[in-house]
Amino acid sequence: MEERKDGKGLFRKLADSLGFYKNNAYVADHLREADMRSTMYMAGVVAVLELFMLIRYVFRWVLTGKCATAADFFHYTKSYWILLAAALFMLTYAWLYISGRIKKKKQLSWLFTGAFFAVSIYFGILTGMTDFSKGKMVTAFLTMMLFVTVILVWRPFTSLLLMAGFGGGFLFLIDHFCIDKEGNPVQMGEGDRLNYVTFFISLSVLVLSVYYQRYREAVKSDILAKSAVTDELTGIPNMHQFCEKAKEFQEHNEGKEHAFLSFNIENFRTYNDRYGYEGGNKLLIEMGRFIEERFPGDPVARQGDDKFAALCPAEGIEERIRKIHDDFLAANKGEVYLDLKIGIYKSDKTEDEPRQAVDKARYAASLLKNHDDRYQMEYDTKLADAYSTRQYVLNNIDKAVKEGYIQVFYQPVMEASNVELCGCEALARWIDPEVGFLSPGQFIPVLEECRQIHKLDRCIYENVCRQMRKSMDAGKPVFPVSLNFSRLDFELMDAVKELEGLVEKYDIPRHYLHVEITESALSENDALLHDAIDVLHDKGYAVWLDDFGSGYSSMNVLKDYRFDMLKIDMVFLKNFGQNPNSERIIKSILDLAASLNMRTLTEGVENNEAVDFLRSAGCGCLQGYFYGKPMKYEEIQEKIEKGEYKLSGRLI
Ligand code: C2E
Ligand code: CA
Ligand code: CA
Repeated sequence: MEERKDGKGLFRKLADSLGFYKNNAYVADHLREADMRSTMYMAGVVAVLELFMLIRYVFRWVLTGKCATAADFFHYTKSYWILLAAALFMLTYAWLYISGRIKKKKQLSWLFTGAFFAVSIYFGILTGMTDFSKGKMVTAFLTMMLFVTVILVWRPFTSLLLMAGFGGGFLFLIDHFCIDKEGNPVQMGEGDRLNYVTFFISLSVLVLSVYYQRYREAVKSDILAKSAVTDELTGIPNMHQFCEKAKEFQEHNEGKEHAFLSFNIENFRTYNDRYGYEGGNKLLIEMGRFIEERFPGDPVARQGDDKFAALCPAEGIEERIRKIHDDFLAANKGEVYLDLKIGIYKSDKTEDEPRQAVDKARYAASLLKNHDDRYQMEYDTKLADAYSTRQYVLNNIDKAVKEGYIQVFYQPVMEASNVELCGCEALARWIDPEVGFLSPGQFIPVLEECRQIHKLDRCIYENVCRQMRKSMDAGKPVFPVSLNFSRLDFELMDAVKELEGLVEKYDIPRHYLHVEITESALSENDALLHDAIDVLHDKGYAVWLDDFGSGYSSMNVLKDYRFDMLKIDMVFLKNFGQNPNSERIIKSILDLAASLNMRTLTEGVENNEAVDFLRSAGCGCLQGYFYGKPMKYEEIQEKIEKGEYKLSGRLI
C-alpha cells in the first residue's frame, strides 16, 4: 500500500475514497483511538443490556418457578453471561487504553476488539437462526450487528467487505440451514429480504460516514499539531519543538559537552530586495534543508527571519562549522554577497535552558555583523558581561523611558564655509542609576534586534521637542536638530504620525527638525519607506541620508530615494592623510551629490587637515569631535551664549 497522493485520475480517486492508501501514523493513531472510544461506549451498552436481560429472566423464570435450580438458570442464560463477561472485559480494556493507564499496543487492541466482535456476532447468528427457525424475524442478529457497528468503522473497503460478508453470510446460513419443527426449510419472504438488504446498505452508509468524519477530524488535527511544532515556511521544527528536543538531547548526553549554534544569513535583506519575496523565501527553505542535512538526528530549528539554530555534540565543532560555512559559500554564488555568521555556545550542563542557550549563541553571531573576515564566534566569559548588559537593556527599556534615564546629547554641525553652528544631531544616552552610563552601541543594536527601538526613539523625539519649546518660550537661541530614525520605527509605529503629534503638541516649526535615515536601512522597492519619505517631504521636513558609503548598495539608494542631505560616513576619514584614495572617493561623492542637487555633510571630522580638505572639496557641513563631542543641551546653550559657537543665520 502506498502513501496517499493527490492524484486526479478516476481510478486514483476511487482508490482514494475506498481507502486503498496508508494513513500516516498520526491519522492512524487518531482513528484507532476513536475506534476504542466508541467500542468502550458500545461495550457499556452491551453490558447494561445483558444485565437487564439477566434480571428479566430472574423475574420471569426464577420467580415463576420455571427454573428449579441455579444450574438450570445458568444453562438457560449462559449466552447472556458470556456476552456480559466479554462486554465488561472490553469496557475495562478500552477504558484503560484511552486513559493511557496501559501501554497502547495496537495489535493487542485489535485482538480484543476482534474477539469481542466475534463473540457478539456468534451469539447474534445463533439466536437469529434459532428465532428464524421458529418463524420469528432475525432481530437478534440485526441487533448484534448494530452493537458492533463501531468496530466496523474502518477503512471503507474493509468495512464494505465485512458488511457484505456478514450480511450475505447470514442470509446464506438461514437459507440453507434453517428448518422448522417438521424439518422443512424456512425461507425469508421477499419483503423481509428487501428490508434485510436495506438494513445492511443503511448500516454501510452509516459506517462510511462515521469513518470519513473521523478521518477529516484526524487530518485537521494532524495539520494543527504539525503547525504548532514546525516552522510554516521551511517545514523544519520551530523553537518550541527545538526546546523539547534539546531537553531530551541534554538528558541523553549528560556530562558530555554540547554546542548550541545560531546561524545568521548576513545580507539577507539585500538578497530579498534583489530576488523578491519569493526568492528570499526560496533561500530560507534551502537554508532549512541545508541545516537539517548537516545535523541529522540533532535538534534544529528556524529561530525566525534569517536565523536558524542547532544543537550537537561539541567535539570537533570548529572543524564542522568551517565545513558548513564553506558549503554555504559554495552553494551561494549569486550576484548578491551572502555570508553565514555562526555563534556558538558550549556547555555540559543539562540544566541550561535551551532558549537562553541559543540566545547566547545568537548574541555571539550578532557581533560578527559587518566583520567580513570572521564567520564564527564563541560565547565565552568575555562576552558574558556584554550579554548581561543586553539582557538588562531589554528588561529595562520601559523603565528607562518612564524614569527619564534616556537622555539626549547634542553634537554640533558646522557650516564648512564660516564654521558657524547650523544645527545639532540628537544622540541617545542611557544614564542608569544601577549600571551607570550606557553608550548607543550597547543598547541601539539590541533594541533594533528585539524590535523595541521605537520606544527609545519616541522618547528622544519628545525630549528634543520639549527642550526646543522651552528655549523658544524662554527667548533663548534655538537651532535645528536632526533625529535618527531606524527602519523599524516606520514598521513598529506610525513614525510620521508620532512626529507630527509632537510638532503640534510643542508647536515646533517643521524646518527645525530633520529626519536621518541610515543607508543600511534602505532597500530597493521598500514601499513603506518610500511613502514615509514622500509624506515627510510633503509636510515640510528635510530628510537626510545617514552613513552614506557604509553599506553595500549606496548607489541604488541614491537612485531610488529622494534626500535633501547626504551624510558621508566617517569611515572615509578614518585613515585620512595616509590613504590618498579616501580623498578621491570623498571628492567624487561630493561631486555626485552636487550633481543630484543634494547638500553634503561629512561626519567624523577630527582634525584641521580634514577640515581644510573638505572645505576645498566643496563639502557643505562638517560634524566631528574637532568641533565638539555630543553634549548636554545646557552645555550647547552655554557655548552659544558664551560665543564659543556662533549660531548661523542659515539654517540647515
Ligand atoms: P550616527 O548616527 O552615525 O551618529 C554619529 C556617531 O558618531 C555618534 O556616536 C557620535 O558620537 C560619533 N561621532 C561623532 N563625531 C565623531 C568623530 O569625530 N569621531 C568619532 N570616532 N566618532 C564621532 P554615538 O552617539 O555613539 O551613536 C552611535 C550610533 O548610534 C549613531 O550613529 C546612530 O546610528 C545610533 N544612535 C544614536 N542615537 C540614536 C537614536 O536616538 N536613535 C537611533 N535610532 N539611533 C541612534
Ligand atoms: Ca545619525
Ligand atoms: Ca552617521
